[in-house]
Order: sequence, then C-alpha cells, then structure tokens
Amino acid sequence: MVALLGALAGELVAAGVTRPNIVFIFTDDHSLQTIGAYNARLSAFCRKQGVTPNIDRLAARGGLFVDSFCGNSLCSPSRAAILSGLHSHANGVRTLSQPIREGVWTFPGALREAGYQTAVIGKWHLDKTPAGTDYWRLLNGQGTYWHPEFSGPDGKEKRNGYATDIITDMSLDWLRQRDTTKPFMMMIQHKAPHRNWMPPPRYYSWLGKVKVPEPSTLFDDYAGRMSPAHNQKMEINRTMTMDGDLKVLEPGKWGQEFNRMSESERAEWNAVFGPRNEAFFKAKLTGRELTRWKYQEYMKDYLRCIKAVDDGVGRVVDYLKEAGLEQNTVVIYASDQGFFNGEHGWFDKRWIYEESIHMPFIIRWPGVVKPGTRFTPFIQNIDYAPTFVEMAGGSIPDGLHGKSFVPILRGEKPADWRKSVYYHYYDFKGAHNVANHYGVRTERHTLAHYYATDEWEMFDNRKDPQQLRSVYAEPGYAKTVGKLKTELNRLRGLYKDTDADEGARISKP
Ligand code: CA
Repeated sequence: MVALLGALAGELVAAGVTRPNIVFIFTDDHSLQTIGAYNARLSAFCRKQGVTPNIDRLAARGGLFVDSFCGNSLCSPSRAAILSGLHSHANGVRTLSQPIREGVWTFPGALREAGYQTAVIGKWHLDKTPAGTDYWRLLNGQGTYWHPEFSGPDGKEKRNGYATDIITDMSLDWLRQRDTTKPFMMMIQHKAPHRNWMPPPRYYSWLGKVKVPEPSTLFDDYAGRMSPAHNQKMEINRTMTMDGDLKVLEPGKWGQEFNRMSESERAEWNAVFGPRNEAFFKAKLTGRELTRWKYQEYMKDYLRCIKAVDDGVGRVVDYLKEAGLEQNTVVIYASDQGFFNGEHGWFDKRWIYEESIHMPFIIRWPGVVKPGTRFTPFIQNIDYAPTFVEMAGGSIPDGLHGKSFVPILRGEKPADWRKSVYYHYYDFKGAHNVANHYGVRTERHTLAHYYATDEWEMFDNRKDPQQLRSVYAEPGYAKTVGKLKTELNRLRGLYKDTDADEGARISKP
C-alpha cells in the first residue's frame, strides 16, 4: 500500500500536480536577443560577456520557449493580458494605463482560492491595485531607477537605493516571512531594463571597452514597407534623446532621473560618464558615426540594467535552494514584450515585427520540464493565467482566450494547439507614432493590416527573417495572402475582436 501510494505520488510529481510554488520574475522591455540562452542576434555576445548567466542557467536547468508572443506589444496591455488570459479588446487595456474592465477575472485570485499565498512586488503599471493578492508593494506608474516610491495597502513608502536591487531585497524579505504552511505565488516585477536605462554604479564601467555587435539593419531605409514604417518616431538616429536616453549632459547639468540621486551618487556617475561625455563633445560626430555611437551607448546601458536584473535572479534562485524550496518551486523569467535593439534602426517595441512581438519565456520546473528543452509550440501572454492556475490545481474559468500550456511543459504535443497568433496594437496616439494595426503571425509568415490607411504588409519570414521586403503585392504570394487573410478573419471571429472601427478612429491622425 505504501509502495502503491509512493508510486502514485511519484506519478503525481511526474505529472506536475504537486501544487508547486510559483516565482514569476517579470521585467520590462527585455528582448530575447539579449539573453544568452536564446539563439538570437546578440545571444552569443551575451554569453561571452556574461550578461545573463543566471537567467541562462534557469534555461539550462529547465526550458525556454522559442516562439513566445504578445498580443499587443506594450507594457500595460501585456500585463493585463497576462493577468486576465484575454486579449486587449476583451480585458479593456488597449493602451497605457487603462483600467482592466470591471468584473474581469484575473489569475492571482484564482490561486488564492486554491490555497496559495500571493504577492506582487515592483512595477505594476495598471490603473487598479492587484485583485487577489495577499501582499503588494508597487512602483508608482513607470517607477524610478533611483530611490523609488512604493505603494501598498498602508500608503506610500520611499526606499533608498537602486530599484532592481530593492525589488529583489523586498521579494526575499517577503519569502522569509511568508506563511510556510501554504504554497505561494510571487510576482517579482522589475522596472528594468525600461527606458531610460539607468544602470547601477557597480556596472558603470562594465562593457566600457567592448563593442556591441551592430545589427545589419541599423541604417534601414524602410524601402519595401508601407507608410507606417516610414512615419514612425522610434529611431536611434532621430528620436533617442541625447540627455535623457544617452545621458550626454553638459557639465553641471542634470536631467530628471539624476535629480533623485544624492550628490555622492552623482559624483560616482560623473567619474565614469563625465570623461565619456567630454570625449563625445570633442569628437563632434555626425551622420552614421553619431548613430553608431548612440547605438553603442544605448546598448551598454541597456545591458548593464539587465546584468543587475540577472544578479537579482541569481539571488532569488540561491535563496530557494538554501530554503529547501528548489525542487518544488517553478521559476519563470519573462518580460512584457520584446524590444528593438537597433534592428531597423529602432529602439522601443509596439510592432507585430519579430523583435517586438517575441517575448522571452524561460521556465525551470524540476521533475516536469526536462533540462535544456527548447519548446517550439506558439505560446502567448494570454496563456500564462490558465497555465499558472493549472499548476496550482485551481479552476480555470470558461471563456479565456488563452490556454494552459502545462501539457506542453510535461512534454506532450496537444494536437489542437494553435498554429498562428493574433496581434492588435492600438496606441498610435501614444509615443513613437506607430500606426494601429492588427495581424497574424504563422510559422512562416507575418501579415499586418494598418487599417487607418488600409495598408497591408506581408513578410515571408523564412526568406526574409529581417522583414525588409513586404511581399503582400507580389503575384507569387497572392494565394498565401488569401490564406492568411482567412486565418486573420478566423482569429478575429474566434476572439470576437470587432475593434477595428474604434481602432481606426484612434488611429487617424
Ligand atoms: Ca514594457
């Protein structure tokens, strides 16, 4: 009998139904190109420089999803889709800082009902406080890198120091004092590596003498694409700011982010960046050389912020091991969307294009996910909520757009799994002038409709992985265009997205 129970327990463990703890480490704007564990543009560079050793170790001991996508590549919308399992038009968060629609189900409450202790610490970036969480300490809006303020049930509190380290400290503090009789779900939500990429002092000089590989599309002229790609305002060349983003400050002048620093913190910054700025002023760069300089400096600060996040991941993983929680805790590393790291000459996100629509998703689940697995099925941010609820043995409500991918994590191949993903971006009126569009991404193609101007693009991602030439109007692709439009209409029907009229109004200049 004992042996039988033992065998049953073994089976349950193998099936992943032991109600694991869940640690969801979530960052802001971290591209998968800048994770060593992926095989993306800067992965080899990141491995060589040791940008993400702890995140890479998670992937080696667990797995990663090669094709993890968002449905609307923007902070608040992605966060709302993750919480609700619904696309933007259904959860109500189409653009930045809109509230989740009244009465919409979100997963932390379902986990609490299933007996979990739930906590969220860090960047929230949604209008309402987190429903269903036992503990929450949230950055206000975007939050700040230096000396951030947190809101909790008892009001606001300012913490001294660097946001990434503080969020990790607060997360470990919560873990140490939690109710150990219950399983837990904790969301550790970093501000980093969001614009304007303020690194911590310990990495000011790191990568100083290294050259970050340039993308071959750094000087993209947008030929081969429709008017939205020409009209955007997200180029490193034209849009990135010299003071705020690149921190090129005249001696004695400080920008907004620096106003939060103490005098000694500014002095520490100036000791490294002062000489850099001096050399920059002297060099009087113009044209492509100036763009190249901006790219290098942008990327170094971005990677320095990521390195601090990776330190935090290491500290959390170490704590789980010390506390004997490693075997029964799922650790996930993800970010709210992808990001352009100079590809197409851009920074930021928003587009259905590859670097923007892809999200990193790395998961370690001992006994369930086979170490080193590279999962290829398409997952989307709408899938996280039902996945977490299934892990916790809770009940998944009907009507979600997302599906639990726990079976995929177990190594199964569900026959009816999605072969295409739906995308809809709405924030033309926000920053960067990216036209509203919806579209579909399949294994090989991307189809996008910019509906305010009724322009279409289609990319053959196998022949043109950098997406430089739309083949939408090419006669040889007419049949494929037809098939993709049918698929796009099917998805719009499936998710009941009738937003295009409203979206078109938003989109018109
Ligand atoms: Ca973001």
